[in-house]
Amino acid sequence: MYKVVIVGAAGRMGRRLSANIMASETLTLAGAVEFPGSPFIGQDAGILAGCGEAGVKITDSLETALADGADAVIDFATGGVIEAAKTAVRANCAMVIGTTALTADDRAELKRLADEENGRIVAANNMSVGVNLLFKLVKEAAAFLGLEYNVEIVEMHHNKKLDSPSGTAVRLGEVVCEARQWKYEEAVRNGRAGMVGKRPAEEIGMHALRGGDVVGDHTVIFAAEGERVELSHKAASRDMFARGALLAVEFLMEAPAGLYDMQDVLKLK
Ligand code: NAD
Repeated sequence: MYKVVIVGAAGRMGRRLSANIMASETLTLAGAVEFPGSPFIGQDAGILAGCGEAGVKITDSLETALADGADAVIDFATGGVIEAAKTAVRANCAMVIGTTALTADDRAELKRLADEENGRIVAANNMSVGVNLLFKLVKEAAAFLGLEYNVEIVEMHHNKKLDSPSGTAVRLGEVVCEARQWKYEEAVRNGRAGMVGKRPAEEIGMHALRGGDVVGDHTVIFAAEGERVELSHKAASRDMFARGALLAVEFLMEAPAGLYDMQDVLKLK
């Protein structure tokens, strides 16, 4: 059994990760971490996840959680991710990062940790198998369909989501840009209001809807004169993100040092 520590254990994703690890036949929950001052410090991670006692108390220190030895850290915390990655790599643990809205500097630091400190890291804005297949299908559609097919991306999430557009929507935009050799910063237009003028062909309209308890919907629209292709994914529960994170841990148990994404884990490249 591989021993896994969760960072952000009291969060929506953290709780589903605890539940899925407790149900796993190959992984075991070895530690759970929240930020210092969190009201959840000292609580049992399994009880918090609604799965009965796990025998793992939430601590405010990743170092403490790793002290008894662990094979992997899964981090879906909304803060402190790079510090946690350094701690995990230096403790020779594999690191799976689901947190979105990482900056270019954050990603550069993860790459450095992989290249210079032998880190084994998977970082992915979306860990679901279905969304990763969507990335591949969108890449093919963007390359196959000509410029007369205008691309619009629409996403919807629950009303507590902090970042916008979603990391998955950004990645979908990047995939289109890669396929069409556009620059993301030049091509993407976040929302439209007022007299914005005629739509240029080399543009991706990006639209973020927020409301209720929507787990995560993404649609990429290719619209031309006379027809429209729409590629969609709809998440109904957070468990498929958690299951993807568990697949990433198992992938890293066999992988050499490197910075990977879910396309690597799922062999979609
Ligand atoms: P959430 O707000 O419910 O949970 C985040 C948790 O992180 C909170 O409990 C918070 O206290 C904790 N936290 C914040 N700073 C911390 C720190 N320094 N140390 C330890 N814990 C800390 O959010 P959520 O809905 O669970 O989402 C968490 C993140 O995961 C977001 O970035 C979200 O966009 C992302 N996410 C990614 C995927 C994916 O597949 N990659 C799927 C769903 C959500």
